[in-house]
Amino acid sequence: MTKTFRTPVTRQLRNLGVIAHVDAGKTTTTERILFYTGESHRIGEVHDGTAHMDFDPQEQKRGITINSAAVTVHWKGTQLNLIDTPGHIDFNIEVNRSLRVLDGAVVVFDGVAGVEPQTETNWRLADKYRVPRIAFINKLDRVGADFHRVVAMMQERLGVRVVPLQIPIGAEGDFRGVVDLLSLRARIWDKDDASEPYREADIPADLAEQAARERVRLVEAAVEQDEAALQAYVNGDDIAVDVLRAAIRKGVLAGAFVPALAGSAFKNRGVEPLLDAVVDYLPAPEDIVRDGGESAADPFKALAFKVVTDDHGAKVFVRVYAGRLARGDVVLNTSTGKTERVSRLHEVHADKHIERDELVAGDIAAIVGLKDTLTGHTLSDPAHPVVLEEISVPEPVIHVA
Ligand code: GDP
Repeated sequence: MTKTFRTPVTRQLRNLGVIAHVDAGKTTTTERILFYTGESHRIGEVHDGTAHMDFDPQEQKRGITINSAAVTVHWKGTQLNLIDTPGHIDFNIEVNRSLRVLDGAVVVFDGVAGVEPQTETNWRLADKYRVPRIAFINKLDRVGADFHRVVAMMQERLGVRVVPLQIPIGAEGDFRGVVDLLSLRARIWDKDDASEPYREADIPADLAEQAARERVRLVEAAVEQDEAALQAYVNGDDIAVDVLRAAIRKGVLAGAFVPALAGSAFKNRGVEPLLDAVVDYLPAPEDIVRDGGESAADPFKALAFKVVTDDHGAKVFVRVYAGRLARGDVVLNTSTGKTERVSRLHEVHADKHIERDELVAGDIAAIVGLKDTLTGHTLSDPAHPVVLEEISVPEPVIHVA
């Protein structure tokens, strides 16, 4: 039975992973994401009142990206669950496991090295699981970095259609910004300081021709996805930015192409537009149709994808595929045949845990109190036992509205 996943939850949600070859800049990019989203979270969110500190100061600084299976942040009103995906080949099973639970991915490339072996392996796995992707071409401040060469290398080595959404302004030590090909405006970072936002400017004269050319490439890819956009294009009308954005999103979700962004995480360039792109182009849980029924109204089922033990005991990270789970509920672990009681539910943030009363379909969070649940086990409603296959999953089908 195949059902469309429709959750009544009104919040916006993205479950995503950051994938890279070792050293391409996954950790730096993730830390920058935590920094920028930390700012917006502090300003915008209401549930801080229930937050409590749960990490030692050392862990607060860096540890979360290393020690946690998933971390929750917010960007412009959208909740992002970042799922850890190990870069090293030795962790292939873990990569499979994380690809099993995420809905979309940011793939980080080294602007000098381009497509590296582990990226290629992980790319194929992401193809297998049909994970929609955005490429972040990083380290453009480095000597020898070349955005366009990496784009060409991706097309050649990965056999994928790459559509740049930006072109870089300046190269190597002089890399200072990007031209956004949707708005046709330049975004310039004057300092390396992460707390300094970019400023908007006109497109530099020497890039006008290149930007016009790349814009045509972008528009041509986008309008293939959307009849109204195509009609406007054929008629020679301007295509509104939001129409273009929606068409690009369709293309990403359908796997027709991969958008590419330019940046340098280390120099704090390009990470805010990357976060915008995550929200604009990567799928929400309800965009994905998975086998077996995935509505919040269906009986509860979840996959335990990582167990992390610390001073507070074992935290079982789960992806909820259907139904709801409240604090105090009893679940059936169909892998062991035992029932267990949920004592607490945690959303894990960079510097704190937030207790949740309830998890619903689409959520990724940690359960505290389970004693016999291991990675790969299925938890389900005791009255409706199911087993979710861990590795050889039914391939999800992206639902394009
Ligand atoms: P990971 O192995 O993919 O997690 O890579 P890291 O984020 O740990 O980065 C590997 C190295 O590259 C570190 O020394 C970083 O400081 C450096 N690095 C990361 N991003 C950039 C960048 O944008 N520019 C430069 N020049 N170095 C970077």
